[in-house]
Amino acid sequence: MRTASDYVSRRALGVDASGIRKVFDLAAKMKDPINLSIGLPDFDVPDVAKEAAIEAIRVGHNRYTQTQGIAPLRERLRKDLSAEMGRDVGDVLITSGVSGGLFLAILATIDPGDEAIFLDPYFVMYKHLLTMAGGKPVPVDSYPDFHFHADRVEKAITPKTKLLILNSPANPTGAVMSESEVRAAIDLARKHDLLLISDEIYEPFLYSPQHSALSTQHLTSGLPSPARLYDKTLLLRGFSKSHAMTGWRLGYAVGPEAIISQMTKLQQYTFVCPPSPLQYAALKALDVPMGDAVAAYRRKRDLVFERLSRKFEVVKPEGAFYIFPKAPAGSTASAFVSKAIENNVLIIPGNVFSERDTHFRVSYATTDEKLKQGCEILCSLAGSS
Ligand code: PMP
Repeated sequence: MRTASDYVSRRALGVDASGIRKVFDLAAKMKDPINLSIGLPDFDVPDVAKEAAIEAIRVGHNRYTQTQGIAPLRERLRKDLSAEMGRDVGDVLITSGVSGGLFLAILATIDPGDEAIFLDPYFVMYKHLLTMAGGKPVPVDSYPDFHFHADRVEKAITPKTKLLILNSPANPTGAVMSESEVRAAIDLARKHDLLLISDEIYEPFLYSPQHSALSTQHLTSGLPSPARLYDKTLLLRGFSKSHAMTGWRLGYAVGPEAIISQMTKLQQYTFVCPPSPLQYAALKALDVPMGDAVAAYRRKRDLVFERLSRKFEVVKPEGAFYIFPKAPAGSTASAFVSKAIENNVLIIPGNVFSERDTHFRVSYATTDEKLKQGCEILCSLAGSS
């Protein structure tokens, strides 16, 4: 007789959820924590988009859409992305979040045994999706600066390497690839014939002076999307972070036609289509200027960096809304995080995103008041350890 767990596949068992689950278990016991663990903006969806979503439901956009998404949204994104990349980017596939795009991309490209390289620390989903597909995740250490070191990446390339996954601005480090790093990544991809997957979900959240004139910057200097320079790039972006729509499940993909068409086919038999009314609302959201939100996050980045660098070894993040300090000497990150949680501050240990247990992730997507309280407690714990 089989027990229920005998039905569970090796594929499911191959995915380890223990790290993050432990944090959530601890968090569940906390009353009104200072929560610096959240990976989503603290502002709300723009009103224009909320109204457009309600209107879309009212007028009856409640059925399946075309698998690849609604034409007006696809056309608008194609126009905008083509202007940014300086070439026609081809058909746009609307996905169920960037997670949906990643899932389809990996399913469409990875055969059992194929290898995919990404920097460590990494967004956890890369590792797990590759494992689910039977591929081999190959994290390449990027400590202590979290930047792209071409020599280290090249050492990890084997004849089985198929993908190089880039994530800039990065979760969990906030690192942004410089122009020379982007060029180095592309040189490696060309030399070893790799497909680049560029996860740019945090794309609007760029804080360095050279990134500040965001809307025109891409058109003039072309930084930082690899999709400008290398046509074997699958570019993934979304609305979750840029427009605070994590629950709306909307992302999009452009890239080589041979891959987009396979992803579309796979979407047809998995997600079917992205949420219909929300696609109409996302089209409206594209016209909402989000510069104020980005400016607010730049200021929060400065606040948190200034405070945490008093007590921690920490790299100044250039994008996204995370900072990744090193735990105090003599303490693993997990032990330090447990101590922080005992003191009502919820942060995530680095070993959730990394092969190392030395750093921790702070999300500064919260109020200034909570940030100040949280930093004060973390600094006092560092002082006492
Ligand atoms: N990529 C990165 C780097 C992320 O941090 C996230 C969400 N935290 C995603 C992709 C997925 O986002 P979504 O599915 O909400 O678009």
